[in-house]
Amino acid sequence: MIKLRYKFYIILFFIFIVISVSFAVIINLTANYSRGDLKNVYYNTLYDTARKNIILYTNSIYEMILFDEQEFIKYDKEKRKEFIGDFVNGIRDKNFNYEIYLQEAIVYDKNNISVQNIYSSKYDQQEEYKKYGKGEGTQKAFYPAYELLTKLEDYTSVFDKESFYLNEKNLQVERVFFCKYIPQSNLLITSCFYEQDLKAAAEDYAKSLEIENEDTVSFFLYVTVFIIIALFVVLCYIESLYYKSLEKNFLSEKLKINEKYNRLKEMSQIDALTKCYNRKYLNEKMVFAFKSFQAGHLVSSAILFDIDNFKKINDTYGHSAGDEVLKQVAETVRNCIRKDDVFARWGGEEFVIFFKFTNIRAALVIAEKIRAAVEALVVSVPGHDIKITVSLGVSCFKLVDSDLTECIERADDAMYESKKTGKNKVTLYSK
Ligand code: GH3
Ligand code: MG
Ligand code: MG
Repeated sequence: MIKLRYKFYIILFFIFIVISVSFAVIINLTANYSRGDLKNVYYNTLYDTARKNIILYTNSIYEMILFDEQEFIKYDKEKRKEFIGDFVNGIRDKNFNYEIYLQEAIVYDKNNISVQNIYSSKYDQQEEYKKYGKGEGTQKAFYPAYELLTKLEDYTSVFDKESFYLNEKNLQVERVFFCKYIPQSNLLITSCFYEQDLKAAAEDYAKSLEIENEDTVSFFLYVTVFIIIALFVVLCYIESLYYKSLEKNFLSEKLKINEKYNRLKEMSQIDALTKCYNRKYLNEKMVFAFKSFQAGHLVSSAILFDIDNFKKINDTYGHSAGDEVLKQVAETVRNCIRKDDVFARWGGEEFVIFFKFTNIRAALVIAEKIRAAVEALVVSVPGHDIKITVSLGVSCFKLVDSDLTECIERADDAMYESKKTGKNKVTLYSK
């Protein structure tokens, strides 16, 4: 199971992705042209210009030949080459090649003509083959266009496209040409340009646009990604603050609960009046020590003591004075022992002190110390100073014991021995 707060992050992340994609789509939709559109516009412009130019140039050559046709007919091959060559050199364009041919029409019958090249403006035919493929395909594709010219006299111009194939690679090349017939000389002036050149120029143009657009796109992309990350970080931070405050509340709540628990635990272990432990707690503490003793470790000892003539104190000074006595006796005893010793109220005005891993001799010394301290105690209640004594019995675990309470019972016996023999005494269990 994914934690709820991680689910929250994931959903948030996807919301941001959707927002940024929508953002990109809107930008694209609001743009007037795509890069492809701009490429086409550029290509069409080149095409129109090239078309207009070859018509213009062909017509110019036509006019020049007509101007002095009688002389032109007399020109030999070299002279004609010079004539067209000068002209063509002046019209070359860096984006596309114009080619001008001078051809002779051969009339077979009224329906069929053929042409033969008298001169091509291309100086290096090999170069052309390298670039566009060999001329075989050209010738085959070329003739049908001329077969349309059924009446040479009516024919002034034709504008068409031809295709031919590169022999090896089978790539189609298209060129656009324009013809002008000179009836008197039976000559055809043919000019053409290659679409391939225009496409390449448009492609270059599109590439230059692409570079520009890529920059713009990456800029938007970086900004968008940056915004997404920044928003994400900020939101995560805000969310973590919120989470922290929840955590703080939770911890303080936990602390309160713990305090309550500790108080309750204390209440279940401690006697409210004397602040001594109760029997249950004493028992728990004795279990471990008893088991340890049975396993052959150190002995533990216990003192049981009872306040002498306590009933009389109650009867003489009142119950609350009796309570005060209980409290002060407990306090006095507590000052005589260590923190680790378990001081418990056994019931009424009887108390037990359990000394873990302490032998009976040491317990006896402490018992005597307690007896003397209580004897020296004076409890002041309104109008009276009360003197108190206690009777004590001392005992320890014995190997014959089957239960830990047997030690307390022996201490109780010893305490009764103290009572019987005059109170305010310490008796060591000796049976
Ligand atoms: P002894 O010297 O033989 O011990 O005589 P005693 O009077 O002390 O013995 P006894 O057991 O007859 O009296 C105990 C009295 O302690 C009886 C009971 O009312 C009183 N007591 C028990 N618990 C409390 C308490 O919490 N507060 C007060 N004020 N008195 C208590
Ligand atoms: Mg008593
Ligand atoms: Mg008693």
